[in-house]
Amino acid sequence: MSQLSTCFTQNQFCVLVEYLCSMKEILPVKTEFAGFPALMTLADRVHSDDDLAPILAAQAYPKSVEKVLHFAGKGRDISDFEHFLNQAQAVGQQNLLLLTGDKLKSHQYGQDDATKRTRYLESVNAVMAAKQRDSFCIGVAFNPFKYAEAERDAQYFKLHKKMKAGADYIITQLGYDLSALKEAKAFLTQHGYPQKLLACVMPLTLARANFMVKHQVAGIVITPHMLNVLREEKEAGLMDRVYLRCALQILICQHLGLAGIHLSACHKSEEQMLLESYIEEYRHLDLDVLEQLWNTLWQVKTGQEFYPELSYYSRPASATQILKYQHLHFMHDALFESKVAKGVGRFIFQSRFWNGALAAKALLKTEFVSKHGVVGCESCGQCRLGDTLYICPETCPKGLANGPCGGTTLDRCEFGDRECIHSVKARLAKAVNQTKILKDNLIPTVPIEVRGSSSWKNWYLKKAV
Ligand code: SF4
Repeated sequence: MSQLSTCFTQNQFCVLVEYLCSMKEILPVKTEFAGFPALMTLADRVHSDDDLAPILAAQAYPKSVEKVLHFAGKGRDISDFEHFLNQAQAVGQQNLLLLTGDKLKSHQYGQDDATKRTRYLESVNAVMAAKQRDSFCIGVAFNPFKYAEAERDAQYFKLHKKMKAGADYIITQLGYDLSALKEAKAFLTQHGYPQKLLACVMPLTLARANFMVKHQVAGIVITPHMLNVLREEKEAGLMDRVYLRCALQILICQHLGLAGIHLSACHKSEEQMLLESYIEEYRHLDLDVLEQLWNTLWQVKTGQEFYPELSYYSRPASATQILKYQHLHFMHDALFESKVAKGVGRFIFQSRFWNGALAAKALLKTEFVSKHGVVGCESCGQCRLGDTLYICPETCPKGLANGPCGGTTLDRCEFGDRECIHSVKARLAKAVNQTKILKDNLIPTVPIEVRGSSSWKNWYLKKAV
């Protein structure tokens, strides 16, 4: 059993200290942080798309230091992930954090040729694959800092899937709104999920906050109020409050019953010592006092100081969307789910005729033409519309079928050019009473070799599933 699993089993609060694989120097790594067991985590392609792979970067550090390897699905297929799992098993790495990942900096849109489009391996599919091996402690990311109803619903629907797929622990997105962390913890309790929850924390300097706002770092909420507080502190020379605030957040997380924290941007010894000194100084305080101090430092009066301004995207599903859903649902049931349809379809597509290049091309074209205008079909070969409320996953720039990534802002897609399809889906699911589908149906990934074939033929012959 890994040290991380042992911490979870023994309810020992632990600290995962993040190191970027782009770092050139080898830094001293702690196995204990302010009296808590500490592990190192190696982030995957955070700094650039070409960062050294975590599994290679890990080799520079002593074997005695236990590590958590991140794996981001950006630009990757399930076969890449299986290869990674083989490597991890070969070197005895047990702790994984599986992420879909933010937008690849070199993302290709594939406007003229869908086969050139950058694909993302979804975290849900990665968890499903890792779980098969039975030897990993599997972590997933979760972003509870969502303030439009539909995007928050979509996050929680997907969290259900991550739990069902076999995740052992959850690490939240970086965030400072304690009410959102409490809500995530309450969700696990309410649904009886035994998985452990860890919060991502970072000593937030004004420079880091400004950077995140300027570069619109996906899924991180920094409000004007927070920037003002940090600016005032800087002008008053109260820079140590950055570390005091981080120490308070860590201690609050411990009191809230979280299993630990994921500490970002604090890998230098002097930063760690400062943070540890504040943890030592304040650890005797109870939760109420810690929260009062936290609120005082952030100048919190209502709690809404951490909320972004709500935008026009929050609205109910339209009558047109509901009608479209009902129409497509009826068609799907009649043509693909009924016994008669399955029998007839199998009979038709068993014919060798469809193996001919011309017939296959004509079939694919017919399918594309009949579906592209209606749902945005891109001929993935493994139609998932029945599990996605007839909103094609390929209309998500990352091609995600199981739910959203963490990068939305008030229902707006991380790519900035559209509303998030998963928010649309979440709203629709509520309107047509089908939220269970979005929580329960684990949608398999589409292997590269299936893309560009007819999903109709594959469906009836059950090739792709
Ligand atoms: S899920 Fe695949 S086959 Fe179905 S509509 Fe979307 S791209 Fe086309």
